[in-house]
Amino acid sequence: MIPPTRHWCVQIDVTNVCTMPCVAEDDGKHRGCSNCTRLNAHVAADRPKYFMAPEVFRQACESLADFREKSLPDLHHRPKFVGMMGGDPQCHPKFPELCAIMRGAMDQRQAAVWFGPIQPRYRELIERTWGPLDQKDQRHWNMPHAYIHSNAHTAADACVHHPLLVAISDMIDDELDMWARIDACPYQEKWSSAVTDRGAFFCEVAAAFDQVIGKGLGEPSTGLALWTGDGPDKKPWWQKPLSAFAAQIRRWCPMCGGAMPLPARRDCECLDDVSESNLAVLRRIGSPRIASGRFRLFRREEFDPTAGGDPASWNPVRYARGRYGKTRDRNDYLTTEGTENTEGGSL
Ligand code: SF4
Repeated sequence: MIPPTRHWCVQIDVTNVCTMPCVAEDDGKHRGCSNCTRLNAHVAADRPKYFMAPEVFRQACESLADFREKSLPDLHHRPKFVGMMGGDPQCHPKFPELCAIMRGAMDQRQAAVWFGPIQPRYRELIERTWGPLDQKDQRHWNMPHAYIHSNAHTAADACVHHPLLVAISDMIDDELDMWARIDACPYQEKWSSAVTDRGAFFCEVAAAFDQVIGKGLGEPSTGLALWTGDGPDKKPWWQKPLSAFAAQIRRWCPMCGGAMPLPARRDCECLDDVSESNLAVLRRIGSPRIASGRFRLFRREEFDPTAGGDPASWNPVRYARGRYGKTRDRNDYLTTEGTENTEGGSL
């Protein structure tokens, strides 16, 4: 794991509402991605939608105003960004206000946004805030403008998602082995830290667990305050050492599958892989996806601890696409074909 100051990006999650056109092949209706990193399919239907208040967004942006300039270098030499993320930020009813806050609060070269298909009504606003629309995967240090990542999750994108709801604690009994794998979690090292309305987090996936499961269970937030200290001692959260985030790591990492090589799933399958203990928790919080049966129980006997090669250095990008380090590249996906949902839903 790395402290947030090493991250190439910090995400500010502004909403859990999303319009990703992930289409189930059976009836063509939108149901959302498989294995969404934000666990959005598990928010109980009777819970209010999450929209970050503009004032909280302003405070989050201000805490990150000099992230590009003052944070430590990314270990993979990537430029540094602060992202507006969801769900889909375009679904926030105050999206134009959030854009104005982001433009005013930071160097435009570090501002970024992640969303689904671009809504035509926001094209001009998006270009004014983040620069030219056609720039996917063109990020580099000398970009004169911000970074836009638009993933429409079409068939051509061939996007796969790691099963984050397969709990490592359900797969591995040896605590030393489990924590060693968590300590080497490739997602935390390669992805982002995050801010939600519940505070600051060392990992965007842990932030999602806190937002959906912590909130759903009525637990107090594990998020850190955006600032500590006064005057010259005042420091933003992302300058804290990793040890400051220990309570988050202890609470959320054992429930997560990010530190294990697991078969990924196509986004468009609209189906989540979950392990036994998480299934019980998701039922407690009233998960609509579980209630609708659009999940697959991942059993302990399916877990191959040797897959992916060295647990400390397996590559999730290669692995998630079915490329097992210990055998030949497979480049295939785990599909619903040949699997069974033993927990009552239809596939
Ligand atoms: S195990 Fe999950 S929550 Fe923990 S650092 Fe990895 S991706 Fe984040």
